Amino acid sequence: MKHPALTQTQTPTQTQFLSVQDVAALVSHAGVAATLTRLADYILEDYRRWPDFDKCARVASHSMDGVIELMPISDAQTYAFKYVNGHPKNTRLGLPTVMAFGVLADVATGIPVLLSELTLSTALRTAAMSAVAARALARPDSKTMALIGNGAQAEFQALAFHHLLGIEEIRLFDTDALATRKLMRNLQHTGLRLSACNSIAQAVRGADIVTTVTADKSNATILTPELIEPGMHINGVGGDCPGKTELHPDVLRAASVFVQYEPQTRIEGDLQQMPLDFAVTELWQVLRAQAPGRTSAAQITLFDSVGFALEDYSALRYLREAALELGLGQKLSLLPELANPKDLFSLIRPDASARANAEPALALAA
Ligand code: NAD
Repeated sequence: MKHPALTQTQTPTQTQFLSVQDVAALVSHAGVAATLTRLADYILEDYRRWPDFDKCARVASHSMDGVIELMPISDAQTYAFKYVNGHPKNTRLGLPTVMAFGVLADVATGIPVLLSELTLSTALRTAAMSAVAARALARPDSKTMALIGNGAQAEFQALAFHHLLGIEEIRLFDTDALATRKLMRNLQHTGLRLSACNSIAQAVRGADIVTTVTADKSNATILTPELIEPGMHINGVGGDCPGKTELHPDVLRAASVFVQYEPQTRIEGDLQQMPLDFAVTELWQVLRAQAPGRTSAAQITLFDSVGFALEDYSALRYLREAALELGLGQKLSLLPELANPKDLFSLIRPDASARANAEPALALAA
């Protein structure tokens, strides 16, 4: 019997492969707004199933200029992992700061059913995750956002907040004016009102939501307490690695802090600066109505986002289904196809290589 996790045309040992071009085609077919909306739905659905997942903090390998991380997660049916790096100096080499790929596998057999690019998908899922958190935590009448850090992730954040939360105006700041100009060019026909600011303070003043998405391998202080106003929601995305933070500790003290998975955020988030007894709420509890989110209009809420494996599980699940609907992708032979599963040696037996060598000649002769 064909396993239910497999596609109609895939043989049991083949893996569906989605390239960057496939994922880009998928997004342009559906549109960015619809893609972000569907991703947010998948993320919400999976976060509401939180107890079903076997979770751990990601495994990080640190070096002087960056980090390489593996992010595994599993439920009873499906296992997922993402490989991702974070190298803020990469842009000087003409490379992105963040690059990724990932796998979905069938728990019952261990077969990797999907191998996909996740660089573009990480930007989409991170933005969708930010929007899922902000829908639970920001004031519902929020219309303006400050966006500090205008690099690769920034357009996705802007569009998620525009389409999923109704943000109409975004005030931009980046230490690199060219990054801000690139963002304004990319988003010029989206209906968003965009303005470039001269300082973080100018961008943040009067904003309903503040998104920080900078990249610097240091304890930066993008937001200091005097910039924070009652009722703000802070979406802190760039503080996601030991020694790499964006918020002054007093910003966390002034806010109600929400996290994805506490054991990971204590190591990687802006939360790393706080004592171990500093109280936070895991977002899944709010999304399952087991804990309050925002409780008053004046409350300051902070989503200390670090990126958790569950969002990648959701993204891979979405990509697999959306690609199947559109017939995108290729089939890869990552695993051997064996007449006798105990006869792995048959792949390298001399008669097997002789047969493989003979086949092209036979094909030519025919
Ligand atoms: P990027 O290098 O493309 O862009 C980062 C931008 O931040 C650059 O334009 C840079 O000039 C700007 N910047 C650096 N220091 C600044 C400062 N002090 N003030 C204002 N701007 C400053 O990187 P990216 O791919 O956009 O990623 C941004 C950050 O988000 C990274 O730190 C990355 O690790 C993080 N990230 C987090 C998640 C998550 O799930 N939380 C997911 C993806 C990326």
